[in-house]
Amino acid sequence: LLVDAARSALAAGGADQFARQLRRIERSLTQPVINATGVIVHTNLGRAPWGVDVAPTYCNLELDLTTGKRSTRRGGAGALIARACGAEDALVVNNGAAAVWLVLAALAADRGVAVSRGELVEIGGGFRLPDVMEASGARLVEVGTTNKTRVSDYRRVLDRTAILMKVHRSNFQLAGFVEDASVEELADLERPLIADIGSGLLDAACPWLVGGPPAWLESEPAARQTLAAGAALVIFSGDKLMGGPQAGLIAGDAQLVDRCVRHPLYRVVRPSGLVLTALQNVALAYLNNNGTAIPFWRMATTSVEELRHRAHGLGVGEVVDCYSVPGGGTLPGVEIPSAGVSLPGDVTASLRATRPKAVIARVADGSTILDLRTVDPEDDRMVCEAVHSATR
Ligand SMILES: *Cc1c(COP(=O)(O)O)cnc(C)c1O
Repeated sequence: LLVDAARSALAAGGADQFARQLRRIERSLTQPVINATGVIVHTNLGRAPWGVDVAPTYCNLELDLTTGKRSTRRGGAGALIARACGAEDALVVNNGAAAVWLVLAALAADRGVAVSRGELVEIGGGFRLPDVMEASGARLVEVGTTNKTRVSDYRRVLDRTAILMKVHRSNFQLAGFVEDASVEELADLERPLIADIGSGLLDAACPWLVGGPPAWLESEPAARQTLAAGAALVIFSGDKLMGGPQAGLIAGDAQLVDRCVRHPLYRVVRPSGLVLTALQNVALAYLNNNGTAIPFWRMATTSVEELRHRAHGLGVGEVVDCYSVPGGGTLPGVEIPSAGVSLPGDVTASLRATRPKAVIARVADGSTILDLRTVDPEDDRMVCEAVHSATR
């Protein structure tokens, strides 16, 4: 890499270009950054913040410590998440898209899957439900219309379908004359109901938050309640509202989960010990009802007063009220009151160039806004120094 930088420097005019070329290479590496955008689950910044701090070590990834025999990697994170959302069993795969694909391939290859025409979503970054369905070998059976789908629409195609699927409209809303079949209604039909709930809210009651669920969570489907309402399986991401590393979860009926595990291509989408360890820590925090141990929930529930106080403490720019968003293609239209500082003009490029961490901010009405909700308080001093160096 250093030789590359030296060659590029010479090509660009001489040795004095070397530092600049080196910087270009440094910037191309994945590195911690400060998220001052107020978008809590920021797709470009790796979605939910999480961390692992482990020295190189072996772990009992596939060893049963009691019997000394080979086991599966399904004990830790999967079992704990199943417990946290009241499922019989749960399986961890690499991401939500992989979870949808595996469930369809394992339960409905060459067979029909009924989905409402109002739920054939595209999630950012190219996840299109009809395309994933086609790749899985399952046959899409569209039911209802864009705005109205009733139980009778599903009932009419039962003889052509192996499973029914409900997909959360994570990133858009339908308004006006709209009708949907509920999970309860669909659970009464004689086919397993699979619910892709998207964002990974484990329990609508949020027992891990001292103050209970925040108002802006209202109407977001939760794993525990969706299963209790009769869904056979729920599918969700580990790195959206769940607040863990990139992962996909398949939770619910143990026999159906087992069919997913036995599919020959489960191995293609199974996660590493690193991801399972990080996810296990998140699951333990949920089981301890300790929301403050999960950065997403800590950030999402920090009071505006506290953020204002921190903004004053920075001693730079003008303290302003602003709005954060949950982000990650979840909860469209939801805004969480927040606070931060405003700087005149657009200095986002200079903030991105600061060290040791780049600071990512946004521009509104010609000013640069740094929303402190998504900034770790430990990084406040670094933000302050970054603003000084960016506006010097
Ligand atoms: C986000 C999402 C997915 C895709 O999950 P990834 O973890 O991004 O692969 C699938 N379905 C729904 C409803 C989603 O919201």
